[in-house]
Amino acid sequence: MIKFDDVSKTYPGGQLALQKVNFHVAKGEMAFLTGHSGAGKSTILKLISLMERPSVGRVLINGHDLGQLSHKDIPYIRRDIGMIFQSHQLLMDRTVFDNVALPLVIEGYSRKQITKRVHAALDLVGLLSRAQNAPMALSGGQQQRVGIARAIVNRPPLLLADEPTGNLDPKLSMEIMRLFEALNQSGMSVFIATHDLGLIARMKYRNLTIKNGRLIEDGLQEDVLLNE
Ligand code: ADP
Ligand code: ADP
Repeated sequence: MIKFDDVSKTYPGGQLALQKVNFHVAKGEMAFLTGHSGAGKSTILKLISLMERPSVGRVLINGHDLGQLSHKDIPYIRRDIGMIFQSHQLLMDRTVFDNVALPLVIEGYSRKQITKRVHAALDLVGLLSRAQNAPMALSGGQQQRVGIARAIVNRPPLLLADEPTGNLDPKLSMEIMRLFEALNQSGMSVFIATHDLGLIARMKYRNLTIKNGRLIEDGLQEDVLLNE
């Protein structure tokens, strides 16, 4: 699903953000990406979501070499990726339904399909009854779940999350992680960048650790803790 093949990234200012990074996340796998602030996590996510290009090496998503894409292919690849951010970036003057519907409206789905899919996605995150509410009427954890519903509404094979629990307390964070787990069990590949080691220590998933732009660990979180 995600393959990094000797990837290095130097930003225009000369800042070396990644050095010879190699890893592979298989279809249907769930994995974490951890590391301190400035380690290179966001850069990895930006390379996957085509917001940045590698300086050296190859990034493959769902079998497509991102370096070989023409401009017109980019929207098709992006469609395969659901993105979740720390701040959910909801439109506060629209209903929950309209927020989740947005990606489908942009893609020109019929009203009937939109209703069906938005309801399915809201059901999945446990917020079907809040469809007509304004986001402001929801708690922080619920708003984050609306963001997740929006990210999965067109059923992408890959879900990417950048610090998805950054603003949430431990209990809500765990709820969000359980939701990712459920999405993964429904067949989605899930890749989550976080610095919340305490949270992921309670979940037995693969963990990639990045430090100063280098991948220094790749294994089960248990092993990582033992090695520290
Ligand atoms: P993390 O997400 O782990 O905090 P980043 O990937 O954001 O790390 O950053 C990795 C390194 O690249 C840092 O040294 C950061 O300052 C640098 N960096 C990130 N984005 C840019 C950019 N757009 N231009 C220049 N340097 C950047
Ligand atoms: P149909 O193929 O009959 O038109 P759909 O393709 O809309 O039906 O839905 C098929 C199944 O996928 C349903 O069980 C529905 O609940 C589920 N589903 C719909 N949207 C999503 C979603 N965003 N994420 C996960 N499952 C979904």
